[in-house]
Amino acid sequence: MLKLGIDLGGTTVTAGLVDENLTLLGSLTWDTGAVASIDALETRIAALCDALLEKFWVPRTRIERAGIGVPGAVDPATGVVGMLSNLALTDWRAAEGLSARLGVPVRVDNDANAAAYGEVRCGAAKRARSAVCLTLGTGIGAGIVLDGKIYHGVNGAAGEIGHRSFVPDGRACACGRRGCWERYASSGALALDAADFCRTRPDSGLARYLRQTGGAQAVFDAAQAGVADAQLLLERYFGWLGAGVVDVIQIFQPEVLVLGGGVSRQGERLLAPLRAMADEQEYTRDARTRTKIVCAALGGGAGVLGAALL
Ligand SMILES: [Zn+2]
Repeated sequence: MLKLGIDLGGTTVTAGLVDENLTLLGSLTWDTGAVASIDALETRIAALCDALLEKFWVPRTRIERAGIGVPGAVDPATGVVGMLSNLALTDWRAAEGLSARLGVPVRVDNDANAAAYGEVRCGAAKRARSAVCLTLGTGIGAGIVLDGKIYHGVNGAAGEIGHRSFVPDGRACACGRRGCWERYASSGALALDAADFCRTRPDSGLARYLRQTGGAQAVFDAAQAGVADAQLLLERYFGWLGAGVVDVIQIFQPEVLVLGGGVSRQGERLLAPLRAMADEQEYTRDARTRTKIVCAALGGGAGVLGAALL
């Protein structure tokens, strides 16, 4: 039997087929389109799943269950999504609605939780009993797995580590607070810092890289090539990212801390400075057992795999 995993993003939705060996057999991604109602969203997701089954010649009877990760706060017991970020839809009875359309039981969770669960079940934190997965993107998403289970908090909204206060009265954040960690340590923040820098220095070495690659990737590439401005920018960025990573370790002491998102492709270039900071700053730096800091292993597939296994 197979499981269906669905990863709903702000602008796209991906569905994938997962077998008993926890292997992602194949997936399909569509634009969410301009969905104006819950009914339209469910119709779109069900049509995507149908197209996926057709593409891989899988009859519906081979699907035993499905799971979906959504960008919003979810009550995992009832499968009700309180609010969907980016899609302006509220009180979506997702488990009930999708289960009726797909004809199988459907589990629902937050997308960062689903991705974290994927990494714990079959990725970078495989076999770990506890893990915190931080996704560095436009913001910082987090999924917390404790004793093998996703930690939801009282209302399904646990893990908003990106919105913890990092700099009092600091940079404005979309959440309404100032100085949130993700405004300094997300890859989006690094890209914005680089763009700001280059606005006043359009002839700098970093500006050339930024025009070629764009985003956080350009800063890493330029620093690697010896561009001093990029190295300074990156050093400051690592100071912010590392301070928060050490905090997360000190609060949870997870077996594994996983870093995901596009910037995790940097591998050792991302990990080495963070491990050095942990060795220096961690309260438990002399302990025999310490948190392993690693990069995500499943890439974009983590959300689909985790959702299928919920
Ligand atoms: Zn915030």
